[in-house]
Amino acid sequence: MGTNANASMNNLFRIFTVPEAPDSTLGKLDQAISQNLAGFLQQHIVAEETDLSVLERDFTDTDIPDRPVFVSEQTQFLLDKVVAQSVHTASPSFIGHMTSALPYFMIPLSKIMIALNQNLVKTETSKAFTPLERQVLGMLHRLVFQQDEAFYGRWLHDSHQHLGAFCSGGTVANITALWAARNSAFGPQGNFRGINKEGLFAAMRHYDCEGAAILVSERGHYSLSKAADVLGIGREQIVAVPTDGSNRICVDALQVQIRQLRERNIRPFAVVGIAGTTETGNIDPLDAVADVAAAEGLHFHVDAAWGGPTLFSDRYRGKLKGIERADSVTIDAHKQLYVPMGVGLVVFKDPAKLGSIEHHAQYIIRQGSKDLGSTTLEGSRPGMAMLVHSALRIIGRRGYQLLIDLGIEKAARFAELIDERQDFELITDPELNILTYRWLPAGFAGALADASPSVARKANDILNSITRHIQKTQREHGKAFVSRTRLTPERYGQQPIVVFRVVLANPLTDEQTLVDVLDEQAEIASSDALAGRLEELRQLLGRPAA
Ligand SMILES: *Cc1c(COP(=O)(O)O)cnc(C)c1O
Repeated sequence: MGTNANASMNNLFRIFTVPEAPDSTLGKLDQAISQNLAGFLQQHIVAEETDLSVLERDFTDTDIPDRPVFVSEQTQFLLDKVVAQSVHTASPSFIGHMTSALPYFMIPLSKIMIALNQNLVKTETSKAFTPLERQVLGMLHRLVFQQDEAFYGRWLHDSHQHLGAFCSGGTVANITALWAARNSAFGPQGNFRGINKEGLFAAMRHYDCEGAAILVSERGHYSLSKAADVLGIGREQIVAVPTDGSNRICVDALQVQIRQLRERNIRPFAVVGIAGTTETGNIDPLDAVADVAAAEGLHFHVDAAWGGPTLFSDRYRGKLKGIERADSVTIDAHKQLYVPMGVGLVVFKDPAKLGSIEHHAQYIIRQGSKDLGSTTLEGSRPGMAMLVHSALRIIGRRGYQLLIDLGIEKAARFAELIDERQDFELITDPELNILTYRWLPAGFAGALADASPSVARKANDILNSITRHIQKTQREHGKAFVSRTRLTPERYGQQPIVVFRVVLANPLTDEQTLVDVLDEQAEIASSDALAGRLEELRQLLGRPAA
């Protein structure tokens, strides 16, 4: 080999070698990165005002470089072009999404996970991480189902049964739960060897039905539609059950829908209760849904991706009453457990239930092994359980209780602030830490309430465009961020209403932040850009704006 080739080899070996001194090039880079990140995280804005199309110019080259780029050069690129143009999800005024601040200890601790690079699919590549992950599943199983010591002593580390499955997030957790439900409902019977072996067509033939369905309220998360698609039953077989004025599933309507499905020879096999809807944070009457599931012989899944950690709160746990009767429960760790993005899990009341999706292979996940990969949808998986374990121990039950109580009480206070003002309308009262509202000055509100349905419809269309404009403009200004969604409130005859959506999960968000958000929105509403639309409203409703 020539000298150049030798030099390349040396460099190649070096990038896989642990640097010996902290003052080495990599050691110094590590420090520089930490400092830069700390600076980024301390800025209380939500984003720099730069158009995405401008940013795209830095990411247009599809040529993979032939010659290596120095680590220092790449670091500089990342700091300048990526970090500086990221969203400040940790900002106290970033209150629009379920992604929020992390406890700072996550950053140093996550280094352990990356450095060890364990693969949880099998014990041969994860050793202690496997019992650790099972322990965490046990902790969250216990939070939900509260079985006794003997139960956990018996099942926690059993090689044939699983208390649940870790995965990358709520979506895969929901898919896993419904996958197990489907496979149990269409399991082996007589000559039929089960849907997992023979497939959907054979299952329909054997069970003599023309389809299979899952029921959930119309506030159900879109991941359930993805699940229906992947499971082969079709998105239309996620049957949306109407909700009441508080966005909770109507249990009577649920029963009607089940009957109608059966009349069409479509077999319902699961019903999903939601503990904290993504848009409004409402909780279905889980006990009543559990009754229906039991009476109808359906798998009862609870999507508690957002609201699950409410169980830590002595004061608010009761809102989730009935969750302990679920067959399976989804909890997203990267939401209200405050763990970095990329981890969710599903726990099953009956440790045998996951057996219906079990897969084995010769070289890995062998029968009878403790390999976690036999009952997860994903294959290779990182040791994120380590970070969930750390959060559960460092924050603890009391800490989570404080975080949950703080969020719920802050949302209630924000609702009061909105009610007290003349220029905003609360659309959904917070049940947890999520609420929705819109800009609507008192003069218009009164006239809107008295308007004929057709005038109200037109006025709401204009208000919808105003809400969209305010939300977008506020986001572009970069000081604060609320999200927006569309709801169909009873108050407006089920007309789609565009609303601001606020999620209060960051403990550092204070009352002043919330007041500032409203003030900025009111200011945008009175800007020249909206003058035309305000005039249209005045003509429709015949009232002054202020
Ligand atoms: C966030 C969420 C999901 C999906 O979780 P991901 O982690 O985004 O995949 C599912 N259901 C509910 C209720 C959620 O809030």
